[in-house]
Amino acid sequence: MKDMSERTLRRPRERELSEAESEARRRALEQIRVLGDPVLREKAHVVEAFDGDLAKLTQRMFTIMDDAPGIGLAATQIGVVQRVLVYRVDESHHVLVNPVLSDPSDETEVVEEGCLSVPGVVVPVERPVRIHVRARDARGARLDFIAEDLEARVIQHETDHLNGILILERTTKAERARALRELREAALTGTR
Ligand code: ZN
Repeated sequence: MKDMSERTLRRPRERELSEAESEARRRALEQIRVLGDPVLREKAHVVEAFDGDLAKLTQRMFTIMDDAPGIGLAATQIGVVQRVLVYRVDESHHVLVNPVLSDPSDETEVVEEGCLSVPGVVVPVERPVRIHVRARDARGARLDFIAEDLEARVIQHETDHLNGILILERTTKAERARALRELREAALTGTR
């Protein structure tokens, strides 16, 4: 999920990125698959091996997420069809492997979401504010907790990716049509 706080954090003056930061951002973004790439529609596979390769994958995902910048990233977004997601809440990094979500709260909230795989688009998405999360960490240890607010939202957004679902399917018909029109226009004029 795109870091939506960025726009407000940067005010009043847009912070200039150093050359190294711009280079890191460019490198991160070129690894992220965008709308139209069929891998984003795939349902990711359950992870069976909690090994060095998985540790390497999560490290790579943290780097890409931080450099992009985003507050969440699913493995499918970098073309790896495995049930792994990472996110950052309150400046700490988290990884969920094989996440299973249940018991969504009746209470829901509509919040504007952006996605690194749908660049330039922000759409309102209604989601439960609380959700029960069961998963494994990168070493295979069991995780079982209730996520709330932003954490619940990011986890739901990234779990959607693991099921081949994008924010365009989570918004209203009218918002989806508007977003697709904007994407088409941006493609025609060569801007994103
Ligand atoms: Zn996303």
